[in-house]
Amino acid sequence: MSIQCPKCQSGLIGTIDAGRKVGSTVGTVAGAAGGAVAAVRGAQAGAAIGVVGGPAGVALGTVAGALLGGLLGGVTGGTAGASLGGFVDENILDNFQCLACGHTFNQRRE
Ligand SMILES: [Zn+2]
Repeated sequence: MSIQCPKCQSGLIGTIDAGRKVGSTVGTVAGAAGGAVAAVRGAQAGAAIGVVGGPAGVALGTVAGALLGGLLGGVTGGTAGASLGGFVDENILDNFQCLACGHTFNQRRE
């Protein structure tokens, strides 16, 4: 698909991706916050499982559970946020900018 500026017909078009950037950042923060909750749960679960292995098992289970929960939350949130932001870019915002005249416009994907 080749995009042209509706104003000056230039083919030099860039994307702004504002929604995608914001969405990714917000998603990562929200995901990390959710991940923190998951980390606490993971730590508790890890500690419960680790009880079998004694005090060392509890410590190991706690750390492993917290790490997994936090990591997964951040990554999942960032990906979801970027997808949502991309949707906003494509459907709501003017995501294209003409590099020749600076005109911003939107073009729905067909
Ligand atoms: Zn233009």
